[in-house]
Amino acid sequence: MKLFGYRVSRFKEFWRAVKYADMSLWGFLSLATWSLYRLMTYKIRPIAVKGRYRVCLECRAFAENTKTCGFCGCYTPFKARVKKHCAGYYEMEGKWGW
Ligand code: SF4
Repeated sequence: MKLFGYRVSRFKEFWRAVKYADMSLWGFLSLATWSLYRLMTYKIRPIAVKGRYRVCLECRAFAENTKTCGFCGCYTPFKARVKKHCAGYYEMEGKWGW
């Protein structure tokens, strides 16, 4: 079963990343609302999302155990789908990330 093109296991990983980040309930609700909005409205081809995630897998800032970004703490499989550029891209002025 898929939801917004993702396997259910991805949402379980996302929840694990949220718990790892020790986020407040308000912070989680804001993030979840914004993410759902972006999942429904931001148009990007699935192949581009996979390419972005592959960049994350090779990135030094990527945390393997939680699949989060070391710059911002975002869960990268979802971040690749909802953001225009990643935190590494902005931090390193376009020389890093996507
Ligand atoms: S800096 Fe960019 S490429 Fe690296 S892990 Fe974070 S989101 Fe992925």
